[in-house]
Amino acid sequence: MDFYVAGSAAHGDDEVTVTHPYDGRAVGRTTWAKDDQVEAAVAAAAAVAAEAAALPAHVRATALEHVSRRIAERRQEIGELITAENGKPLKWALLEADRAVSVFRWAAEEARRFSGSLQRLDTDPGGTGRIAVVKRVPRGPVLGISPFNFPLNLVAHKIAPAIAVGAPIVLKPAPATPLTALLLGSILAETDLPAGMFSVLPIPNDRASSLVTDPRLPIVSFTGSGPVGASIRRAAPDKHVTLELGGNAAVLVCSDYADLDWAASRIATFGTYQAGQSCIAVQRVFVHSDHDLLPRLTAAVNALVTGDPSDPKVDVGPMISEDAAKRVESWVDEAVAAGASVVTGGKRDGATYAPTILTGVPADAKVVAEEIFGPVLVVSEVPTDEAGFAAINNSAYGLQAGVFTHNLQTAFTAHRILDVGGVIVGDVPSYRADQMPYGGVKGSGVGREGVASAMEDYTEPRVMVLTGV
Ligand code: NAD
Repeated sequence: MDFYVAGSAAHGDDEVTVTHPYDGRAVGRTTWAKDDQVEAAVAAAAAVAAEAAALPAHVRATALEHVSRRIAERRQEIGELITAENGKPLKWALLEADRAVSVFRWAAEEARRFSGSLQRLDTDPGGTGRIAVVKRVPRGPVLGISPFNFPLNLVAHKIAPAIAVGAPIVLKPAPATPLTALLLGSILAETDLPAGMFSVLPIPNDRASSLVTDPRLPIVSFTGSGPVGASIRRAAPDKHVTLELGGNAAVLVCSDYADLDWAASRIATFGTYQAGQSCIAVQRVFVHSDHDLLPRLTAAVNALVTGDPSDPKVDVGPMISEDAAKRVESWVDEAVAAGASVVTGGKRDGATYAPTILTGVPADAKVVAEEIFGPVLVVSEVPTDEAGFAAINNSAYGLQAGVFTHNLQTAFTAHRILDVGGVIVGDVPSYRADQMPYGGVKGSGVGREGVASAMEDYTEPRVMVLTGV
């Protein structure tokens, strides 16, 4: 597949073969962008920045609506492509396509709405007769860097808000899953956006750092792992950097909670969906000791169908690679050697790791203290809800937390106490709507995404004071 340099299809010399994580077969090909093509993309983004910022809202919104409509029309093809390069079950891949449809549609709506504000200044004597017109202007071209686990939607999260505010974007997709981003590039190329407004460039990791430090891309919007995020922040201290990083998301089933079957089914599904490769997949499960959750959770996990992700019946497919599954296997083995028990799962077959429940895990084991990014649930009992909140906060990360409670007071307490970017009451931490602010604290990142939040992020206020009004 071609990549996109300043809105035009292009190809390089060095071929990249993308393989299916389930069986290793080739599912598509592209090429790495060459240095002169990367330079052309960045130069074009910088050259078009003023024109892009002046694009009328209706032009930006029309382009975004077109992209939304075309993703909807090509839903099945896109879903199958996501499954082929990422290995997630088709039902999740189709859901990802549906979310991207909403992201672009929402961005179109926000593009029409997004404006500045008018502020009165006569609150103090010196401001008598003055008002401030506050406009939001793009900070400049955006560098978007996306991970493999949502090859479409996390790309959409970078591109849609950029178009919505009139900021050119250079997008670097994950090397394992470039094809869906390139297909999206082909849809963007159907729009009337000016040349230079977008580029989608497959680049190997070791060549991406020059983009990170390039002063013509003053905004870096990164989604990926903590170590890479930290290195980007160090490399670009003067840039506006947003980091959407990992986590070891937790859920608490509180003392009052009555619907244990619902909680068990949600935890089983969202601890293992996409083989656990979501930054808000459930990893740590805290349950009040009055509840008999474990047998229900075990039954729900054992009912999951593992296998070929193209089969619509399959719930859990392979991880992104056999190496990734081997890492999960080694972390589980390490926990077991330190005293943990495997309630179910604990087996690997190639790139597929069986949905697994562990109990009795020491607090410093990697499966609980670090981001497992695999289909593994670590279950612990807590004597009180307060102890559960403390256990959730005992983490180097803080993306989202789930709190199963029917009690409004407990919900407010959780919202006040939990050191995370979002608290999901009555469900798992894995819920995300693309219009809400989304992001983490501590090791989970800096800044917020979600269409409207990213639009704020990509722009800065510019004030004009009018005197004598
Ligand atoms: P990764 O950090 O390995 O790669 C992410 C992106 O960074 C890829 O495009 C990669 O090619 C690029 N990259 C790698 N080294 C780079 C460098 N030196 N300079 C510039 N770019 C570089 O992450 P991954 O394995 O693709 O994704 C999994 C991680 O992403 C997990 O930690 C997960 O929690 C996180 N994630 C976070 C969110 C969120 O919104 N918080 C969402 C999805 C995934």
